[in-house]
Amino acid sequence: MDLAIQAVDGTKVYANAAVIKTYDARRLRELLDQVESAIEALESQNEGGEEGDVAHLPEELAEQKALRQRVRQAMNDLPSMERPNRYKRPAHINLTDKDARLMRTRKGIVPSYNAQAMVSPVAAGEGVAGMLVTASDVVDEPNDTARLTQMAEQAEEITGVRVPMTLADAGYFAGKHVSGLHHRGQQVVMPDKARPTDHPYHKDQFRYDEVTDSYTCPHGQTLAFTGMKSARKKSRLYRVASAAVCRGCPAFGTCTKNKRYGRSVEIGRHDVALRRHREWMATDEAKQMYVRRLPLVEPLFAIIKNLLDAQQFKLRSIANVRAEWTLLVTTFNLRTLLRAWSVRTEARLCLRLSANDRENLRLSS
Ligand code: SF4
Repeated sequence: MDLAIQAVDGTKVYANAAVIKTYDARRLRELLDQVESAIEALESQNEGGEEGDVAHLPEELAEQKALRQRVRQAMNDLPSMERPNRYKRPAHINLTDKDARLMRTRKGIVPSYNAQAMVSPVAAGEGVAGMLVTASDVVDEPNDTARLTQMAEQAEEITGVRVPMTLADAGYFAGKHVSGLHHRGQQVVMPDKARPTDHPYHKDQFRYDEVTDSYTCPHGQTLAFTGMKSARKKSRLYRVASAAVCRGCPAFGTCTKNKRYGRSVEIGRHDVALRRHREWMATDEAKQMYVRRLPLVEPLFAIIKNLLDAQQFKLRSIANVRAEWTLLVTTFNLRTLLRAWSVRTEARLCLRLSANDRENLRLSS
């Protein structure tokens, strides 16, 4: 197994739940009102001993009461899912599978899960037999931003190897992961989602000096450390010695318009790692390496979804779909191992045949 490289990606797998069973708080209240009315009507019918459907009443009543219980439970669960600032839309819950979330997919916005996988190539004979999944997970978040370090850690735990090169798409880009993997000694090839502007006075154009802990601007002026900008963000502020320096600079108005304090730069916790990462991503080596990402990881999802018929999970709830996804990637791994084993057996047979041939030749001569 080639544990020099690994690639991570995620794919949306449909939940085993219909989109019409997804409700926000307002629709849940409406549904609860409807169910309460239906229960009231059935109970009065039952007590009144009316003819007709009386034989079915206890069953219908039990169904409506069970639905009322589910709706009440969903209304209790809903506040914990509120993320209005993040998604700018009301929280929602699916009554069939409460862990499924509405996600953008090829079928539109439907209840789904985000299935993750980290793969590494397996060598067989002269070539590559396929990929092995070294880490997998299923999450109820539509985006991949928070997943990179966790997937790298899981892959290391399973294989016992800290793979030096990780390939990921821009969906995984986050400063803390770029910096986290760097501190683990793992190089990451991942496009920068928030590319810096190529503005000549962007903070990336300021040169950092570790010894003096200061920056030098493109016109050679020093920006010294003046303190922490915010305790929560833990970002450091650097500023020119005097506003007069900037006011007399030909770049005043382009670099800064601050007449009172002059130019400052704010350096976040991960800015140094991000700057290093941007420099690395600009190299030909990183660009060539990134081209390898798609062929490494995409066949996995194509095989699981098409050959193993897993466009949609069969089970419900996050715990169950995680188990289902583990079974699917294990099946994929067994398929890869079988292919690698076949290639090696074939190679051994060829070697044996050549030895026999050589013996026959020796006898006949
Ligand atoms: S405006 Fe100030 S910080 Fe910007 S380039 Fe000029 S001297 Fe440097």
